[in-house]
Amino acid sequence: MSARDQIVSYLEGNRETFIAAACDIWDHPELAFHEDYACARLAGLLEKEGFQVTRGAAGMSTAMIAQWGNGSPVVGILGEYDALPNLSQQTECTQRIPIVEGGPGHGCGHNLLGVGSAAAAIALRHYLDEHGLPGTVRFYGCPAEEGGSGKAYMARAGIFGELDAAFCWHPSRYLSPWMAKMNAIVAAEFWFQGVPAHAASAPHMGRSALDACELMNVGANYLREHLPPAAKLHYAYLDAGAKAPNVIPERAGLKYIIRSSTIDDALAVRARVEDIARGAALMTGTQVSIRYNEGASDYVPNLTLTRLMGEAVDEVGPIVYDEEDYALARKIRASLPEDCIKGIAWEFTGLSADEAREYYKTHVLYDRPGKFIDREFHAPASTDVGDVSRCVPTAQVEVPCYTIGTPNHTWNMTAQTRSTIGQKGMLEAAKCIALCAAKLFEDRDGRLLQTARREFERTVGSGTYVCPFPDELTPPR
Ligand SMILES: [Zn+2]
Repeated sequence: MSARDQIVSYLEGNRETFIAAACDIWDHPELAFHEDYACARLAGLLEKEGFQVTRGAAGMSTAMIAQWGNGSPVVGILGEYDALPNLSQQTECTQRIPIVEGGPGHGCGHNLLGVGSAAAAIALRHYLDEHGLPGTVRFYGCPAEEGGSGKAYMARAGIFGELDAAFCWHPSRYLSPWMAKMNAIVAAEFWFQGVPAHAASAPHMGRSALDACELMNVGANYLREHLPPAAKLHYAYLDAGAKAPNVIPERAGLKYIIRSSTIDDALAVRARVEDIARGAALMTGTQVSIRYNEGASDYVPNLTLTRLMGEAVDEVGPIVYDEEDYALARKIRASLPEDCIKGIAWEFTGLSADEAREYYKTHVLYDRPGKFIDREFHAPASTDVGDVSRCVPTAQVEVPCYTIGTPNHTWNMTAQTRSTIGQKGMLEAAKCIALCAAKLFEDRDGRLLQTARREFERTVGSGTYVCPFPDELTPPR
């Protein structure tokens, strides 16, 4: 039996185990850094298969490393399992009906992501065992992808350093190895503390935190001309101070987000924005404190591994849906706005823009094959898989898990990530990752990994990892 057939047959033979775990995690949605249930559920699944589980990786109670095997190569598979706030929703339902009013929900499909990656690790472990192939499989349970960047803390702790390759996936609307570079992102909150005073009778006694915010924004907007070409600066008021104009505001706060094509650029811009904040404080006689809470490095796809992922995707083949899946997808599609397919990405489909538009119009589920496309891509979004990609050669795959046109991070998505559509996507992802990784273990002279490493040294460099967070910042829980 070929590696492909063996891996597919293992995953199909054990599909109910993995589907039960994904439904279970969907039934217990947990926010970033609080994924106790999901982490324990996955640890239990992996321990039962002989993996040695280390909990509390990188000082986070919901991070873990599960390891099986010995020696090299050492391949890591990344899983996420956090939910999003306020996206609680009944499954397969086309109306907004939360299960828990205001509660969290899996509107990004990380219940599928975590279990799909664990399933890939388990399928790979069985394949290596049966063939007596040496090497180590690691599953990394990564908390807080949604805004908290758990992987950045893990990367800073050096726990990806021993890997020869890392793989991840994400629920998507189409099937494709992920070929695009992605932006780095860093964020900071600036809180100004002034002195309150009556604006009419004693303005000279007051020091305005609002003035400091306004001057900071003026300074930052003048900085725009001097940003690196790919950098972007966004800001919002978190607190504009007093509600009444006749009070000198004592406290006010801003949040800045900086994106750029490299983490070094983003951090350099952040340093200048910090100087501007200090200047605004100096000008207004206020104090500024800076809080860091978000950040992720730019994602650098390792194209050697991504091409290999393309081969695996090709061999596994497209997802086969049945009439029930199509019926559900048609029902979901009918509940979405009419223009829901407008502007959705098509570049990775291998179709032209017009062909993709026509395909999306006439298809509710992506049932085409996925292929590696040899072209440079850049996606403006960010992910903390970027931090892993700056430590070790990394590849990802996007796998259809929902109706074409469903917007990310919505209740419409939560309604599908427990359905058979989501479940089929999860198993497809496990097959692609396990098969791609198996190719590395079968390559006994290690040529593929040597090529991947050479590419990594060329694109990322062999220098040390630069974390988007300052050293003193620790995970919030
Ligand atoms: Zn996500």
